[in-house]
Amino acid sequence: MNPSEYVKLAIKTESTNFAAMDERLSDNGLKRLLHAGIGLSTESGEFLDALKKHIFYGKELDRVNLAEEMGDLFWYLAIVSDELGVNMEDVMERNISKLKARYGEKFSEEKAENRDLNTEREILEKQKMN
Ligand SMILES: [Mg+2]
Repeated sequence: MNPSEYVKLAIKTESTNFAAMDERLSDNGLKRLLHAGIGLSTESGEFLDALKKHIFYGKELDRVNLAEEMGDLFWYLAIVSDELGVNMEDVMERNISKLKARYGEKFSEEKAENRDLNTEREILEKQKMN
């Protein structure tokens, strides 16, 4: 397969209902979540870039920069928290409850592979939302 054939076949599976996308994007809350989602991804990339430069290029690991990127991630998570109407403390508590349901008190590969998704979902649905 040559690149042109690949592009021709690949774009057949692209979602192209742009009118429907425009309609969904008329929701400002969705725009805020998209902004946060893009930001979380780019800030994660900055975090990984610092690790990459240290591990693969021998640059000194800049822990101050890693903490800065952690702060940037929190900034985007604050937008998500506000838009979803969830309290970050409650999200943290639900996350730990979910992990306790999954692993008990300790990680195991067997438990990671055999998760009770219904129980985990029930825990997460108790999340307080405004
Ligand atoms: Mg950053």
